[in-house]
Amino acid sequence: MRKKIVAGNWKMNMDYSTGIALAEGIRDYFKNKVPVCEVIICSPFIHLASLQNILKGSIIKYGAQNCHQEESGAYTGEISAGMIKSTGAEYVIIGHSERRTYFGEDDSLLNRKTKTALARGLKVIFCCGEVLAEREKEIHFEVVKRQLTDGLFNLTEEQMKNIVIAYEPVWAIGTGLTASPAQAQEMHRFIRENLEAGYGRKIAEETTILYGGSCKASNAAELFSMPDVDGGLIGGASLKKDEFCAIAEAVH
Ligand code: PEP
Repeated sequence: MRKKIVAGNWKMNMDYSTGIALAEGIRDYFKNKVPVCEVIICSPFIHLASLQNILKGSIIKYGAQNCHQEESGAYTGEISAGMIKSTGAEYVIIGHSERRTYFGEDDSLLNRKTKTALARGLKVIFCCGEVLAEREKEIHFEVVKRQLTDGLFNLTEEQMKNIVIAYEPVWAIGTGLTASPAQAQEMHRFIRENLEAGYGRKIAEETTILYGGSCKASNAAELFSMPDVDGGLIGGASLKKDEFCAIAEAVH
């Protein structure tokens, strides 16, 4: 059985105290519950060290939203995978569309970042997804296949066990437009088929594939009911405790 996951991506939101209060709220919500899915908070870097204490003994995991491709050195203002790991974080998001678009991160750089993060013992939530023009031209499968082939599919089988894939159609991120459950399922199936072609059936069946893009409490259950949708990567709705917790509880 593959792991189901609901991960919140706070992006560049929440100052120190509001972020800590949100993490505490999510922790307390799940205090006496055992959700079917793993619940992850991907906060800004400033919260990570504090989350170690706040989430101690809780089922909630945490991670970062980016890391540098080098292990250490003269990269002023950057954060390394090892630094993230040293806070007790388990995860890092790599290849979010906002990193690709605003920071020019291409597949080859994302591949380097992924390998560095894995080498430092982090699990990677690797994002892929087409922009609207690519879907309209009906090249969305081709685009996602290229992102995965160039960004991910030269990993070893052992490395692939620490990868979560997040399919996030860029036209659905932060727009209020959501992929229909059928559109999500079709792409997730395609991704799993490509995993199988490269890594065999076992790894394909065991890899968690998340959907991201305007997922909220009102549409989560329908999306998560698709056989190849193993949970969600949640942006805007992860900033509201009740909404985020309800999304996590929509996983069955
Ligand atoms: C995201 O940025 O990963 C995301 C899915 O955002 P939103 O849920 O706000 O569309």
